[in-house]
Amino acid sequence: MPPVSLSNTPSANRTHIGFFGKRNAGKSSLVNAVTGQNVAIVSDVKGTTTDPVLRPMELLPLGPVVVIDTAGIDDEGELGALRVKRTHRVLNKTDVAVLVVDATEGLSIHDREMIDRFRVKSIPYIVAYNKTDLLAPLASTLPVSQAPTDSRANMSPPASNRSSGPYEIWVSAKTGINIDALKELIARRARRDTPSRPIVSDLVSPLDLVVLVVPIDEGSPKGRLILPQQQTIRELLETGAVSVVVKDSELGDALPCLAKKPRLVITDSRVFSNVAAVVPENIYLTSFSILFARHKGYLEQLAEGAFVLESLEEGARVLISEGCTHHRQCNDIGTVKLPGWIKAYTAKNTKGNLKFEFTSGGDFPEDLSPYSLIVHCGGCMLTEREVRYRQACAKDQKVPMTNYGMVIAHMNGILERSLAVFRKPRS
Ligand code: SF4
Repeated sequence: MPPVSLSNTPSANRTHIGFFGKRNAGKSSLVNAVTGQNVAIVSDVKGTTTDPVLRPMELLPLGPVVVIDTAGIDDEGELGALRVKRTHRVLNKTDVAVLVVDATEGLSIHDREMIDRFRVKSIPYIVAYNKTDLLAPLASTLPVSQAPTDSRANMSPPASNRSSGPYEIWVSAKTGINIDALKELIARRARRDTPSRPIVSDLVSPLDLVVLVVPIDEGSPKGRLILPQQQTIRELLETGAVSVVVKDSELGDALPCLAKKPRLVITDSRVFSNVAAVVPENIYLTSFSILFARHKGYLEQLAEGAFVLESLEEGARVLISEGCTHHRQCNDIGTVKLPGWIKAYTAKNTKGNLKFEFTSGGDFPEDLSPYSLIVHCGGCMLTEREVRYRQACAKDQKVPMTNYGMVIAHMNGILERSLAVFRKPRS
């Protein structure tokens, strides 16, 4: 099978493998050796790779991956510092990191600092000592088939290398020593079990009644429900709970017709306030986007972000970001309704003078520093890694982030109520 495939696997669903290291540690040579391709520019001139280079490909035994070649972590000067910053940012989208170290030099202070970054961000990593062919004596003479995989046994690295952790391997991009073993090790490190958080199944019991409020208006896609609604209904079905799906316009009439009290009402954020007015206080109420914030692991952080509305100042820039490029309608929630509601809500402090910017799909600005607040959609079309990447970028740059459901609930004074179902034990 060829190492590169033009398969249609979206980038978001591929394992992202980041190669990091000092200039001239042989990162690009190792990327080429691992991928079996000349995907990275190899040069003896220090710092040839200036910006992260992302290459989607098929890499056995892992499958669809994105290989990321990065600039040297020891780059110098003003531009070099910027490149190092970009390299650090790549960590936010990295599933497995390979730190390439020149085996003849051993771990440097830059390498150790990088290992600290991997640990802080909980990124599984491998230290690959490259240029093993230049080491005496055993490593360079062992045939590949006998070479150890992730052990230092039989190798003779500098003594300073001996404290970087258990996932280490001695390789040579030049002679091919241990390249297959490195690929196996990358695959092993990538296959960690990320516990999948439920959307709703832990909040309900079999035969519980759950009412889902789905407005059908000009903002709704024609002829179908959107993914968060489909996924929620699917999970409720798996749990054995009973879903009742109604439009907001029918909710008031539908509730008294139900034979028992619903356990939970889940609404589209667009009609949050109307629904809150109709649903009795003794029934749990939340929104699809709040459920998905919890599902993706960012409930608390996004809830805190909603309170930043209170401190927005005149002229503040607000980024509204959507995870897919759905066809925008007039009165679109992201580009029309939300900005209008936020302007009106913050008018006392901002005099309605806020600058809104919008992104959708895969676009998300690298530099978030101009923004006082990011309001993101539920992100149902984004993978956990992409959501994590966006959250991490915002956190790194100290820009508060919230989502549609949280901000709408907060502006309507029902945020606490919307979160209550997660805090109270199941009755
Ligand atoms: S990715 Fe965002 S905008 Fe697109 S359907 Fe999901 S919640 Fe809506």
